[in-house]
Order: sequence, then structure tokens, then C-alpha cells
Amino acid sequence: MSSPDRYAVVGHPVEHSRSPAIHAAFAAQTGQVLTYERLLAPLDGFADTVRRFAAEGARGCNVTVPFKFEALALAARATPRATLAGAANTLRFDADGWLADNTDGIGLMRDIAQGAGRPLAGQRVLLVGAGGAGAGVLGPLLEARPAQVVLANRTLQRAEELVKRHAALARAQGVALSASGLEAPGDAFDLVINASASSLGGAAAPVPAATLRPGALAVDLMYGAAARPFLDWARAHGAENRDGLGMLVEQAAEAFALWRGCRPETAPVLAALRASLAGAA
Ligand code: NAP
Repeated sequence: MSSPDRYAVVGHPVEHSRSPAIHAAFAAQTGQVLTYERLLAPLDGFADTVRRFAAEGARGCNVTVPFKFEALALAARATPRATLAGAANTLRFDADGWLADNTDGIGLMRDIAQGAGRPLAGQRVLLVGAGGAGAGVLGPLLEARPAQVVLANRTLQRAEELVKRHAALARAQGVALSASGLEAPGDAFDLVINASASSLGGAAAPVPAATLRPGALAVDLMYGAAARPFLDWARAHGAENRDGLGMLVEQAAEAFALWRGCRPETAPVLAALRASLAGAA
């Protein structure tokens, strides 16, 4: 009998990652035979770690902080959304050259549209953060055709660069796209997405409360205890809130589909993950 196909998530740190449990659940649900592990790469050893894993016969990997930019550079080919993001969270080790993809953005869009039941078309959206996550989200967000997107970042220049790279797509989709700092990005957005790492430092919100219109949806890409101050801030200011767990499961499903050619159902996996996190809290 042949051994199961191997996959992993590569990061630094990586021990917190929920991806092994998510992919194990997808494999069980779809009858796919595979293993999925965590690989800690030294900060200066991402390429060596991934090359060694591929040389051992592995089929692909997910990539997390801080290697998403390096991951794109390592691949022979990239999907248009990974190229536009300038970052990849998924590699497939094809025999004729590795393929890089970025499933973060489409994962978040699915979670907002289907998980939260909030259509994106015509909405005014504030996207906070121009790091790897913000870069991955912006393209798929524009493709959902909101009326307006303001990309706000602590370092304004990073937001401006990302906006410039997405200007043609925004024009083609009819979206008003602009860059801003964090202090005054505008008022009364329908959707505020915190794709910055502000919650890691325990801060409530990186932008003023006036950014939320009553009944807005506020999403933090973090989950668990770290997301709590942002989620509480949103609720205290009359918004609905959502953490990043749904996005985590949706981006994993998209990677799974790229690797295995079949799409798992996400709702039961998200429910089980939420239950296990609640039990651990
Ligand atoms: P990153 O590449 O390191 O970028 C960090 C971003 O956060 C930058 O825009 C940075 O601004 C900003 N930032 C850092 N500290 C801040 C603070 N105290 N106040 C305001 N802004 C701050 O990280 P990333 O890959 O984009 O990840 C961002 C977050 O998204 C992380 O918490 C990560 O866990 C989460 N994430 C979740 C999922 C999911 O599936 N749920 C997927 C991807 C990422 P500067 O440019 O000014 O430094």
C-alpha cells in the first residue's frame, strides 16, 4: 500500500496552528488519504525547510507568518490572485514546478458572504492592515464589487503601494479605492475588517469608533482570546462582530481543493473547531 500524501503548515511560530485539525477533518469527510503536520522553519531557513519537505516526497504546504512573501518567490508559477497580493499561503509541489496560491482573501470573502450572510456588493468597506493578510484580502475584496474600499495602515506608504498595485482592478470593478492612515480613515462604513496585527498586542481597535455605522459588521482576522477586545469594542459601538475562525476554515478549504481536486464542506468543521476552542477556554 502506498503511504499517505504529506502536507504541512510552515511558519515561525507554528505550534499554535489549527490547520492540522482542519485538514484532518476535511480528509475524513472527503475520504482523502493524507497527513498534515506542523513545520517550524528557522527565520532564515524557510526555503531550506520547504525544499527538504518536498524532497521527502511531500505534495504541498500552507505558509504562515512571516514567510508568505518568501513563499511566492520560491514558486515557479503563481495564480493571478497570489501575484497581485505579492504573497502566497499555499504551495503545491507539482513535478513541473511549484505553484503558489493565496487563498486568504477568497476565504474571508466566503466567510463574510456565506458564513455571516453579508453581501459585499455595493458596500462601503474599511480594510485595516497592509501586511501579508491585507495584501491577500484586497484583490478578492475588489472582485466582490463593493462601492468603496479604504485601505488603512499604520505605515501609510505600505497602504499606498498596495492601492497602487490594485488600482487597475479597482477601476475595472468600478470600486472607489484609496489609502489612509489609521487616525481618520472615514466614517460609517458597512464593513470594517481588521487585517492588522493590532489585536496581538491586546489593543481594542486600531481605528476610531466613528468608522462603524450602526449595524455594521466588524471582522477581526484573529480568533480566540486575542480577538476579544476588538470584538467587544465593535459590539459596544453597535456593530455585529465576527472573528477570523471562519476565514481560517474557508482558506483551508480552498487550499484543500487546489491540492486534492475536491471541495470539503466547511460548516461542520467550523462548528467543531468553535466547540473545541470554547471547551479549551
Ligand atoms: P504582517 O504581514 O506582519 O502585517 C502586520 C500588519 O499589522 C501591518 O499592516 C502592520 O502595520 C499592522 N500592525 C502591526 N501592529 C499594529 C498595531 N499595534 N496597530 C496597528 N497596526 C498594526 O501580518 P499579517 O500576515 O498581515 O497578519 C495580520 C493578522 O491577520 C495576524 O494577526 C494574523 O494572525 C491574522 N491572519 C488570520 C488569518 C485567518 O485565516 N484567520 C489569515 C491570515 C492572517 P505596519 O505596516 O505599519 O507595520
